[in-house]
Amino acid sequence: MRGEIINVGTEILIGDILNSNAQYISRELSRIGISIYYHTTVGDNPTRLQQVLQQAKERSDLVVLTGGLGPTQDDLTKESVAELFGLDMILHEESKVKIQGFFQRISAEMTQNNLKQAYMPEGARIIPNDNGTAPGILLEKDNKIFILLPGPPRELIPMFRDFCIPYLQDKSPIKFYSRYYKISGLGESALEDRLLDIIDGQTNPTIATYAKPGEVMLRITANGNTSEEATKLLDEMDHQVMDRIGSWVYAKEDLSLHEVVASMLMEKDCSISVAESCTGGLIAAKLTEIPGISSIFHSGIVCYSNASKSDYLGVKEETLEKYGAVSRECAMEMLAGLLKNNKTKIAVATTGIAGPGGGSEEKPVGLVFVGIAYKGKMEVHEVRLHGNRQQIQERSANMAFNMVRK
Ligand code: ATP
Ligand code: MG
Repeated sequence: MRGEIINVGTEILIGDILNSNAQYISRELSRIGISIYYHTTVGDNPTRLQQVLQQAKERSDLVVLTGGLGPTQDDLTKESVAELFGLDMILHEESKVKIQGFFQRISAEMTQNNLKQAYMPEGARIIPNDNGTAPGILLEKDNKIFILLPGPPRELIPMFRDFCIPYLQDKSPIKFYSRYYKISGLGESALEDRLLDIIDGQTNPTIATYAKPGEVMLRITANGNTSEEATKLLDEMDHQVMDRIGSWVYAKEDLSLHEVVASMLMEKDCSISVAESCTGGLIAAKLTEIPGISSIFHSGIVCYSNASKSDYLGVKEETLEKYGAVSRECAMEMLAGLLKNNKTKIAVATTGIAGPGGGSEEKPVGLVFVGIAYKGKMEVHEVRLHGNRQQIQERSANMAFNMVRK
């Protein structure tokens, strides 16, 4: 099946928003073995949209469109697809009732143009949207599949995952199954190095490494006629991979390091406090993303200045003078201060130079000390991180989470 993606929206073209929908859909489709040959972004312009649709209909079997399903005048995706296939727009009663109900629930007045969202090209199927008013549309016509989804990712993602993927999987004779491994403490090239012979030699399953800011991922994809067949292949590969890189794998699903660490701490009922200098509250922010974290997250202090390190954590002035704030000694005293002032089982401290300024020959940008105290033991790691300010902060925070995990 040859697929393509069309993202509709002038705001994407002018750079106001990042086209994350294209990335998400491509990734999900490739996981189930559908090749995507083109990404097109087109503005909210009926003529150009019609041209793009014509071309897509000629060259692709599956076309996924995002955006332009809303109630306003510039939302023209449905109408344009109807025109492409020469179909009438008809009122879909169930959707009308649903949209009316939505407005009742949020106590807002429904305007006439909202009803526009209940019109569908004739013969189309509805893709339910539980997070918004615009339903998605599935149209199978002339041996082509057109899928129309609303632009907002929080609406699109559940619709695509829960409706479109199972539907498309059913259509394909060969099934693809993927497993994701999240890796921490090992760079992408170091990871690849350890697996090179397997990566090169394999056709089923295939292995690929990925890097995103602050995280590295491995994907293993197998295909088979049945899920048992594929699962067997995945299990065999799992053993080989885990033998070589097991100690760096922190999750076998698409979870972030801080999510895994937070659940582990909550499960063990192990409290944590953090003192953050160079990460400026990033560790605390990541922890507080997790619902229910109040059961174990005791406190976070952003002690950015020298004075605050002394005032709130009792870091000695002599230490700051002699070794500087970015030092192993300072990190140790930050930990000691946290333990003294807080009832916490784990204490974490960061101090470093995130840059771009402030580095010296002796203490370059990227020099970071991350400390952890647990069960009467204190450990401070010194690292030299690469990247811009944001990357250095992100990597420092991840390093702290990795130390907690271990
Ligand atoms: P709405 O009912 O919200 O108008 P819609 O289907 O008409 O939905 P658009 O108006 O095109 O969608 O986009 C609405 C919002 O969805 C955009 O402002 C943007 O925040 C987000 N969005 C749209 N397209 C994309 C995309 N390709 N990638 C990421 N976000 C997107
Ligand atoms: Mg819109």
